[in-house]
Amino acid sequence: MQIIAETHSHTIACSHAYSTIYENVQAAAKKGLKFLCVTEHAPKMIDGPHEWFFNNLPATVPDLLDGVIVLKGAEANILDFDGSLDLNERQLKKLDWVIASYHSPCCTPSDITSHTAGWLAIAENPDVDVIGHCGDERFRFDYEPVIRAFAEHQKIVEFNAHSFHSRPGSRENCRQIALLCKKYGVRAVCSSDAHFFTQIGNAGEALDMLMEIGYPEKLILNTDYDRFLAVAREKSGRQLV
Ligand SMILES: [Zn+2]
Ligand SMILES: [Zn+2]
Repeated sequence: MQIIAETHSHTIACSHAYSTIYENVQAAAKKGLKFLCVTEHAPKMIDGPHEWFFNNLPATVPDLLDGVIVLKGAEANILDFDGSLDLNERQLKKLDWVIASYHSPCCTPSDITSHTAGWLAIAENPDVDVIGHCGDERFRFDYEPVIRAFAEHQKIVEFNAHSFHSRPGSRENCRQIALLCKKYGVRAVCSSDAHFFTQIGNAGEALDMLMEIGYPEKLILNTDYDRFLAVAREKSGRQLV
């Protein structure tokens, strides 16, 4: 099985990634991917772009480039344990694909109780589509009640192959999270979190982990064109093709 949509990608709009949107699209097309989600770091990341990047993105970048459907999104930063984000409601509603993630430069890790409260608040935010790399040990939370809340609010949980290497404890934590997501029927995506075009589509390790635990295929959204198109239409509110 392979992914047909890259659901998490960065560009030169932040200074620690090295490709343009179009280079990422071309890489996606070359690898046979049908969708690319542009999910730049939102403004509170130290080197993230200005909020204008996100305001201008939907009307500027076409929905279809080189045969790849482009979803215009963001990786919003969760700023505290009340679920505050660094793009406002109006901005988030205009985006197709909103990931919410904890990053230590934007929110200092605290304790399990705080992290749990933070994710429970995010679960209730209707403008958040995807839970970003939540297996980070530094932001350890009480998995069972939070995953149950993700299921209840129909959040999509991301399994981010890049995090298996870059975020301590992620591989084992993601396995535990995935087992609970399976138990509660949570929709999942596997992503690369690409910071250079050569990484687009490299989600194999995350997908392998889901396969190992027998994750139901119909819940892995980005391994099937029709399944992902349906969710892309749901999230964007457009027909797209
Ligand atoms: Zn991130
Ligand atoms: Zn990212």
